[in-house]
Amino acid sequence: MESFKDLGISEPVLKSINDEKFENPSEIQEKSIPLILAGRDVIAGSATGSGKTLAFASGIIQGSERGKGIQALVLVPTRELAEQVAKALAKFSKYKPLGIIAIYGGVGINPQILGLRTADVVVGTPGRILDHIARNSIRLGKLKTLVLDEADRMFDMGFKDDVERIIRKCPAERQTLLFSATISKDVVRLAQRHMKKPLQVSVDSYVDPKKLVQTYYEVGDEMKFSLLVHLLKHENSDLVMVFCNTKRNTDKVAKNLRFSGIAAQAIHGGLPQGKRNNVMDRFHSGKSCVLVCTDVAARGLDIEGVSHVYNYDIPRESKQYIHRIGRTARAGAEGKAINILSRNDYDNFSAVLKENDVDIREETLPAFERVAIRLPERRMSKPEVNKPAVRRGQQRNRRRRLY
Ligand code: AMP
Repeated sequence: MESFKDLGISEPVLKSINDEKFENPSEIQEKSIPLILAGRDVIAGSATGSGKTLAFASGIIQGSERGKGIQALVLVPTRELAEQVAKALAKFSKYKPLGIIAIYGGVGINPQILGLRTADVVVGTPGRILDHIARNSIRLGKLKTLVLDEADRMFDMGFKDDVERIIRKCPAERQTLLFSATISKDVVRLAQRHMKKPLQVSVDSYVDPKKLVQTYYEVGDEMKFSLLVHLLKHENSDLVMVFCNTKRNTDKVAKNLRFSGIAAQAIHGGLPQGKRNNVMDRFHSGKSCVLVCTDVAARGLDIEGVSHVYNYDIPRESKQYIHRIGRTARAGAEGKAINILSRNDYDNFSAVLKENDVDIREETLPAFERVAIRLPERRMSKPEVNKPAVRRGQQRNRRRRLY
């Protein structure tokens, strides 16, 4: 692993990183900082918690001089993020002080107009930045670096046109850095229109291995679900993700968890987008705290506050294990990854242990109650609808308690 110095970061920023006690660069930092410092346009697929702020901050701080006009503009979707990013920039520029200002709506505009006169770096939400452009209180003629932070979220929030309008006000000769948890069509289109030969880097998220505890239980097939219910009821958890390998299992587990009084929702590629959004809204709002999902559905979801990841099925591809556990212990928070193994999982689990550098501790089985599991009613796919009624009846009869 490369050190921060090897990435080309200059002394003042290195000193502030040292103060923060960051030991090693995160993956996104390792991949993007050399490109950013070389002046390239970069598209970085990375969620909150990946350490992306330091990645673009190192470029901005290195390339900016105090009192030379606005040299960097960071566009962000929310006021909170504007404050957070401005604070991080101030922290990392401690040994090379710059005028950094956060600009967003809902507060008085006059102090901002004053602050913008001496600012070197501006972090702002699109609406208020456009207000300042209209008033001529922000001058972007000296701009060298434009950062679009959480671009997909800005688009989701309806800022696409505003962002485009702001970009058109920036000098054509500039570096553009785009950070986005998901690289959607809109993100690609924007990059094609406004970036110069961008290089793309992507990572999952920054997970602190010291904050992530990984364990496994060995249990008989017939007691797997019961153990899951027991752990969900007894572990002190925040948001929880339960991974299954198939859509069918995802539905079955979510449904049966609800039968057992646990607010669970399934999400998988088979659900229409509207339903998926609904499920995610409920999950984010804490109305359902357990999300049962497949790998495909979980990809691209930017979820904060996941304290537990359960592998109800061990992934068939061992790399997926790393993607799954990367959902928790993000951004300095603690997390737990719990693997529930039965006979069918042994091969996959051996591959996970062999192909990844992971430390997974065995836990002794607690005493727990047996919970009945019901099979989900078969959904009728189109061809099945035309089958004779008697066949459908038979299928219904096949529904039974497993134990
Ligand atoms: P960000 O994704 O930029 O919001 O960063 C998420 C959190 O990770 C912040 O609290 C950072 O201070 C922290 N962080 C960023 N880079 C590192 C690193 N290399 N080592 C440890 N923590 C880091």
